[in-house]
Amino acid sequence: MSDTSEKETFSFQTEVGQLLEIVAGSLYSNREVFLRELVSNASDACDKLRYAALTDATLSPSEDFAVDLDLDTDAGTLSISDNGVGMNHADLLETLGTIAKSGTGAFIEALKAEEKDQVGLIGQFGVGFYSAFMVASKVDVTTRKAGETESWLWSSDGKGAFSIEPAQRDSAGTTVTLHLKEDAREFADEARIRHIIKTYSEHISFPIKLGDDTLNAAEALWTRPSKDISEEQYAEFYRHNSHAYDAPWHVMHNKVEGSLNHTSLLFVPSMQPFDLFDAERKSHVKLYVNRVFISETTTDLLPAYLRFLRGVVDSQDLSLNVSREMLQSDPKLAKIKSQVSKKVLGELKKKATKEADDYASFWGNFGAVLKEGLVEDPALRDRILEICRFASTGDEALTSLSSYVERMKDGQEAIYYIAGEDAAKLARSPHLEGFKAKGVEVLLFSDHVDEFWLQHITEFEGKPLKSITRGAADLDQVETDDTPEEDKPEEADLSDLIAVIKVELGETVKDVRPSKRLTDSPVCLIADDGDMDVNLERLLKRHGQLQDGAPRVLELNPTHAIISKLAERAKADGASSDDLLSDAAHILFDQARIVEGETPTDPAEFARRLGSVMARAFGI
Ligand code: ADP
Ligand code: MG
Repeated sequence: MSDTSEKETFSFQTEVGQLLEIVAGSLYSNREVFLRELVSNASDACDKLRYAALTDATLSPSEDFAVDLDLDTDAGTLSISDNGVGMNHADLLETLGTIAKSGTGAFIEALKAEEKDQVGLIGQFGVGFYSAFMVASKVDVTTRKAGETESWLWSSDGKGAFSIEPAQRDSAGTTVTLHLKEDAREFADEARIRHIIKTYSEHISFPIKLGDDTLNAAEALWTRPSKDISEEQYAEFYRHNSHAYDAPWHVMHNKVEGSLNHTSLLFVPSMQPFDLFDAERKSHVKLYVNRVFISETTTDLLPAYLRFLRGVVDSQDLSLNVSREMLQSDPKLAKIKSQVSKKVLGELKKKATKEADDYASFWGNFGAVLKEGLVEDPALRDRILEICRFASTGDEALTSLSSYVERMKDGQEAIYYIAGEDAAKLARSPHLEGFKAKGVEVLLFSDHVDEFWLQHITEFEGKPLKSITRGAADLDQVETDDTPEEDKPEEADLSDLIAVIKVELGETVKDVRPSKRLTDSPVCLIADDGDMDVNLERLLKRHGQLQDGAPRVLELNPTHAIISKLAERAKADGASSDDLLSDAAHILFDQARIVEGETPTDPAEFARRLGSVMARAFGI
C-alpha cells in the first residue's frame, strides 16, 4: 500500500504517454472537441450517480444534477464541474492513467503511421479525457466519490507523469480545471464557449450552466419529436452516447404507445465497432426507465445478433424500484425486446430494398452478425432471411435468396451454394466449372456462421439449398442455352481407370466416379451425400471438435485430356496398374486436396511421385 496522505507521483501507462505526445503536439483545427469530451464525462458521471441513488437515497446530491462551467479570462482557465459520481484514489489511478478503450493501441499505431492525417483522426477518435491536453498546459482534477469522505487532486502537465494528493471538496463530484495554453486562450472566452456547447452538447440531458444561464436544451434527446432534431444533433448524440467516432449509417427513432409504452433511439454505426466479434457479444444499447439510466450491457433488451446497434431504449412502464437483475427478467422487457427487434428488422428491410448499394455497405460490416439470428431466433428467422444478402457467381452485386430463385434456370431444382473461407477463392473453385458452363448461379458463403444456419434452413420457397461440394451434381435436367449437343466435348469411358484408382487409393477415398461438375480441371473432391460438407468438416477440425473426417469422393473429369489418356492406358493394361497409373492416381488425389487449400496426405511421397512422373516426361 502506498501512503496516500501525501502527494504521490505516477507515470502514465505507455500508450497514454504516446497518445499525449501526439495530442499535445497536434495543431488540430477542431480542438474545441475537448469540451465535448469533458462535458460528456461529466454527464456520464451524473447518470451513474442518479442510478446509484435509486437504491441508496443518501447518495443523492443536495442540488439537481448539473454541469457547471467557469471561465477566468485573466487567469486563462476554464473549469468543468459536475455533481456526479466522482472518483476515489483507486478510480483516479485506474481511469486517468491508463486507457481502457478497446482499439486504442491500433488507433495510436494509425496516428503514428499517417503523420499527415493524424489530426483528422484525433478529432474522429475522440480521445476522451486526454483531449484536454490539446488546449491545456496543465490539468487539475479535484474530485470526491459519492458516499466517501476523502477528496483528491489529480494533476498533470501531460508530459509522462501525473500526481495525486489529498484535497478539499464540499460534496461529491468532479471539477476539471484547464490551464489554457497561450495559443488556446480563446477557450476562456464566453461567446466561444456558448457556441461550442450549442454545437456539440445540445443533446446532453443535464443542464450545462455558465453562471446563471443554461446553455443547452437539457432534456433527453429521444423525448423530443424527431422533426425537431437535426441530422447533426443525432450524430452528436450518437458519438456521446456510444463513445463512437464515426457518423451513424442509419438512425431509427421510434415511439411506441399502447399497452406498453417505449421510445427507442437506435443507431447503426457506419464502421465495425472494435468489440463486434468478442466472445461476450455484448449489447451496447442503454436501457432507461423514465429517463433514468439503468444499464448498458443487458442482453435482455436486444438479441446478441443485433449487438452492432447503439443508442437507448426508454420505457416508463418498467419499474424503477427493482434491481437491475429483477428488471431483466421482467416479461415487459421481453415484450419490448421483441417489438424493438421487429422494428429494426423492418427498417433494415426498407434499406435493403430501396437502397441496395447503401445496404451493401451495412451488410459488409454487420451481415455476419445478423446471420447469427438465423440460428438463434427461430421466431424472427424468416424476417432475418429476407434481408440477408449473398455473394454469387451470377452477379457482381449481392443477391437475396428470393431474387436468386427468380433467376433460376428451367429445370434447376435447387439453390446451389459453395461454402469456404474466402469468397474470392471460392469463386475460383473447380467445383463451379460445370455450373458456370450451364449458366447456373452458385451462391458463395464465406462467413463462419453460414455453416451453422445451413443446419437450420435447408430450403427456401420450396427449393432445397444444396452444397456443390457434397453429393452428386444433378445438372442434367438444367436446360442449356448455348452449347448444341454436337459441340459437347467427348467423354472418355473411365471404368478401367476408376477400377485402377480405387485399388491404388483404397480407404483414402469413399468412391471414385466420373464428374458432371468439371469442365477444365481434371479432378475434384466432394463429400458423399450423407456425409458432412467439406467446409463444415474443415471448421470443426480447426476448432478441435472433430478428429478425422469421412473419406471423400474423388471425381474425374471424363472430358479432360489427361484423364482420357490415363483411361486409354488403363484399358490397354486391363485394369492392372503400372507405375505411371499408380503415380497418377496419387498425384491427382493430392492435387484435388491442394486446390482446396489442404496439404498432400504425405508430402514426401507426393514429391517423390511427382518427380518420377517428370523424369518419365523428360525420358530420363
Ligand atoms: P470514456 O469516457 O470513453 O470512458 P474518457 O477518457 O473520457 O473515456 O474518461 C475515462 C474515465 O475517467 C471515465 O470512464 C470515467 O471513469 C473517468 N472520468 C472522467 N471524467 C469523469 C468525471 N467528470 N467524473 C467521474 N469520472 C470521470
Ligand atoms: Mg469520455
